[in-house]
Amino acid sequence: MINYIIMFFMGTIIGSFLNATAMRISYIIENFYDKNFYNKISYFKELLLEITLLKYMFYPLRSECPKCKNKLKWYHNIPIFSYLFLQGKCAYCKTTIPFIYLFSEIIVGFIFVLEYYYYTVFNFPLIYFILILLALSILYIGIVIDIQTMLIPDIFIILAILPLIYINFPLGIDNIKFFVYIFIFAYILHYIQLKLNKVFIGIQDIKLYGIAVLIFGINSIMEILFISSIIGLIFFTYRKIKYNTNVGDFGVYIYISIIIYPLLKIYGISLF
Ligand SMILES: [Zn+2]
Repeated sequence: MINYIIMFFMGTIIGSFLNATAMRISYIIENFYDKNFYNKISYFKELLLEITLLKYMFYPLRSECPKCKNKLKWYHNIPIFSYLFLQGKCAYCKTTIPFIYLFSEIIVGFIFVLEYYYYTVFNFPLIYFILILLALSILYIGIVIDIQTMLIPDIFIILAILPLIYINFPLGIDNIKFFVYIFIFAYILHYIQLKLNKVFIGIQDIKLYGIAVLIFGINSIMEILFISSIIGLIFFTYRKIKYNTNVGDFGVYIYISIIIYPLLKIYGISLF
């Protein structure tokens, strides 16, 4: 039990860091990027641009209020408690802190607990457990940016892939091959959509399915597709009724599917 509490607490600290990073980068994208320009430049220029975003992971070194720029004291930075204690407001200027700060701390806490549970059930090597947590954490930054700005910078997908490639080498070489095919397919589609100036399907979503393959193997792909579609449909319907919006950032549903998929295996549920 104590292990689960430690994992949850570690998750909240990391979640706080990941969320702050994602919010800083989202801010840069929203305010300094011309998305039309961004969509027209070549892939490599885009990637170079995104690499420069990585400095915002560690800048500013000490967290500060995004609004009044006052440096936060250590006791303003305790996951969950600080948010509740300050009632979701900056200690200095009383600006409302977006709910997603608290949300990310709790969610990443639960992700760490779940992954630890899978680790004990499936009994895979410790290094795999750490690398999967690393990949999911990097990907989480991309997902929050997606929620904020409707785009996932490729750099967070590429960084998330690296630990997963390591896990699949050499035994999961077929997964890597399949993943490469998915990636090439995504880039060709990206190119076609640029030429036609139309978006039929989210390119990054295709790559996220590729990441699911790297974690769970090729046989999981139909089930992951199915679960993410069901989750997507539920959220889509909910938002349609409540807010009458059509936007669907599908990335988050694929991410949720990746997090909960092992539960199906543990409870012996087979969808097909
Ligand atoms: Zn402030």
